Amino acid sequence: MSNTFYPDISREKSKELFEKAKQYFPGGVNSPVRAFKSVYGSPLFIERGDKAHLWDADGNEFIDFCCSWGPLILGHNNAEVRNAVASQLEKGLSFGAPTALENDLADLILSNNNYMEKIRFVSSGTEAVMSAIRLARGYTKRDKIIKFEGCYHGHSDSLLVKAGSGLVTFGETSSAGVPKSFAEETIVIALNDPEALQTVFSQFRDQIAAVIIEGIPANNGLLIQSKEYIDFLRQITKENGTLLIFDEVITGFRLGFEGAAAHYNIQPDIITYGKIIGGGMPVGAYGSSKELMACISPDGNVYQAGTLSGNPVAMSAGIAALGILSQPDFYKNLAQVTEKFISEIREYVLSKNYELQIQLVGSIFWFAFSPNTNITRADQIDHKSMEKYKIMHRELLNRGVYFGPSGYEVGFISAAHTAQDLEKAKKAIFESLDVVFSQ
Ligand SMILES: *Cc1c(COP(=O)(O)O)cnc(C)c1O
Repeated sequence: MSNTFYPDISREKSKELFEKAKQYFPGGVNSPVRAFKSVYGSPLFIERGDKAHLWDADGNEFIDFCCSWGPLILGHNNAEVRNAVASQLEKGLSFGAPTALENDLADLILSNNNYMEKIRFVSSGTEAVMSAIRLARGYTKRDKIIKFEGCYHGHSDSLLVKAGSGLVTFGETSSAGVPKSFAEETIVIALNDPEALQTVFSQFRDQIAAVIIEGIPANNGLLIQSKEYIDFLRQITKENGTLLIFDEVITGFRLGFEGAAAHYNIQPDIITYGKIIGGGMPVGAYGSSKELMACISPDGNVYQAGTLSGNPVAMSAGIAALGILSQPDFYKNLAQVTEKFISEIREYVLSKNYELQIQLVGSIFWFAFSPNTNITRADQIDHKSMEKYKIMHRELLNRGVYFGPSGYEVGFISAAHTAQDLEKAKKAIFESLDVVFSQ
């Protein structure tokens, strides 16, 4: 048990900015989880970042494990990305016409990826997924889709749907403003439940356009699925003429250059990207076989467009970032660093007998305050345990470590996290856990 008491950090400036922001934006933010509703205190307004470090408006410094929710796998202010963006800025911000930069990013991606042949750039993960669903419906000429409870796929109407009661049900909207009739086209089932999949496919024979799953579900804890289950999912979709969509907005370029598809050695029918692909700028993408992509306008009759799609500044950031990620051993090194960091925390947790599991894949981790050592489904998460996360979050901020402001969010290690950063963070984590478990 640590005796060191850490006073709360000063949030004066952040508070002032938040009060102002509340006059402009609903809840004072432009994306809900930023509002710190699930943790103590008001949100920190960030002034700048460099490598693995963040500074807020009050001058507090943090080691960052949120990494802008995943995109910053190279850390903040990476010199190569910054220089690429700066040199493009001098040539123009947007043309609404093709540029060679789009070819360059596509070439870098496709020549290093065995799971798709053509790609289309959009401006966010939401847009990528929304377009992938439309493509699946257009290609199969079917309307219904299956999604999994606990997977997040952005905020398009078809996907703001949660499970109703019962093993297999039509979804219920999880947001006001989504028509009930839309939700009825989305069937929601539990992860890691082969029986539920079989039941849906026998109940809705020849009606399911696509099953969408996160490469590794990482938006509601880290719910790692077994290879057997993903293989079964691939097999049952194929047998039913249903497309399998891997939403790799988090896992793409995170688990490896070829993401979860290569991790599981599974060929999905459509893959969606976001987050890392733009090197910190707003970019999304979806990719598939030449045959499927021929359905997209202007080649085919599935319409999809974007004024700022393939934006040259965003493309330059993506090219610079992915160029670094395509170097040999990048992912091997990052996974090794993460493995060492997490296993040392696990050892500490074990020595203290704390009820905490740390789920880990590649450079993604999740602290689950639970006795359950193998959480694979949303309904296995203990919502009451989030109180513990709240305390840990506050204690970590007080010790200069920034985790995402919700216990359902995963953490990320970037290539900019140094051994010294991780040593310091580890000490802060040990002390914070001591506080959590002394309450
Ligand atoms: C973040 C995320 C999205 C949505 O991407 P936005 O860029 O926030 O629209 C979709 N799917 C997954 C798996 C994500 O993690």
